Amino acid sequence: MKEKIFTDIVKRLNEIKKIANLSDKEIELLSKPKKVSYTTLQIDNQKLPAWRILFNDALGPGKGGIRFHPGVCKDEVLSLAFWMMIKDALAEIPYGGAKGGVKFDPQKASLKKLEKVSRKFIDAFYVVLGENKDIPAPDVYTNSQVMAWMLDEYEKKVGHHEPAIITGKPVELQGCVLRDDATARGGFIIIKEMIKNLKLNKKNLKIAIQGFGNAGSNLTQMLWQDGFKIVATSDSQGGIYYQKGLNIPKLSKVKNQSGSVINFTTGQVISNQKLLELPVNILILAALENQITKENANNIRAKYIVEIANGPISYQADKVLFAKNINIIPDVLANAGGVIVSYFEWAQNKTGNVLDKKYLEKLLQQKMIASWRKVITIHKEYKNRIDLRTAAYLIAIKRILAAEKLRGHLNN
Ligand code: NAD
Repeated sequence: MKEKIFTDIVKRLNEIKKIANLSDKEIELLSKPKKVSYTTLQIDNQKLPAWRILFNDALGPGKGGIRFHPGVCKDEVLSLAFWMMIKDALAEIPYGGAKGGVKFDPQKASLKKLEKVSRKFIDAFYVVLGENKDIPAPDVYTNSQVMAWMLDEYEKKVGHHEPAIITGKPVELQGCVLRDDATARGGFIIIKEMIKNLKLNKKNLKIAIQGFGNAGSNLTQMLWQDGFKIVATSDSQGGIYYQKGLNIPKLSKVKNQSGSVINFTTGQVISNQKLLELPVNILILAALENQITKENANNIRAKYIVEIANGPISYQADKVLFAKNINIIPDVLANAGGVIVSYFEWAQNKTGNVLDKKYLEKLLQQKMIASWRKVITIHKEYKNRIDLRTAAYLIAIKRILAAEKLRGHLNN
């Protein structure tokens, strides 16, 4: 199924071509990565496939996370790099799009092996990386410790300090105080804005959240603390459903102690598939891509879906959900908090300035709301004939193409 993601991205671009009256050359530029780097990392007696893909750098250096997962493949890294290009342009931060990944199972790996993979990744790709070239960050199953090893290895290679080469670092290594829960914070701001705009009453809302990792668990806690009712959540082992509302601090404790939310005793254990189809008002997707496809799109009962994961809804499923009048807050808008705070970290590292936490929180809030308003405005301009994802793409693509044109890349 995964092998198709990028083909679907190109289909979507061709739809946008008609809506925005774009030329063949513009579409070609938007659908071709600038640099694909691939190698295998020799770890003990294994060879692990690894990629770093710079999709576009018209607006600034490449920016995007590194994923460690057994499902990593070229199609996935390429798609994630494309989405980063759109996300960065929409957020108006001075970056292009990039992504990286290593195909292996980090959950079965020792700490020592994780460190080896992290350092080997940098040994293999440090030439294509740099604070003004391409800047990695964490993604699925990579964290601040992985970023710390990668920073250390990079600085050994180049022979000088360069903290802005990578973001999502521990605070002790010039990371940003907001980075740990930045994606969740951004998602929380967008959900609050959506509820305000739609005049929904939070007391009447039931929420289900797929994924209880960095993004999902932090967002779940923020929503719970703000008085929202979370009826279900899940991780890779399955889900837990309690109609009266889960006690999230207690559930987090169980997850930390036992490794899975399914060990929580209040509620019913359900499959990830079942979680997606629950009778809730808001469904938040915070795990992996392609969770809602044409196979299950018709079974979705939530009226609003928030994409915290990248690409959790397939192209075909998007069509089904649009026809069912289900509103999707797209990934490139809803999960941009992570990369916006990465930008704060990078800017701090480059200037040597350390900014106040309260100030950064306010800046994040302003940037998230500005993006939300831009998307809603375009959506209204098209009189709701397009979905919010298309509206977001239209804004981002306009910026990227303007930069390409100014650089002279679109002249005949
Ligand atoms: P993570 O590694 O911390 O957590 C991933 C979560 O997904 C875990 O709870 C895992 O158990 C769960 N999961 C894995 N396979 C699953 C499956 N088949 N069904 C249900 N759950 C499953 O990762 P994360 O950083 O929280 O990232 C989650 C998503 O958010 C990814 O799509 C990632 O690209 C996206 N994202 C993350 C950030 C960030 O800053 N962390 C930023 C933007 C987007």
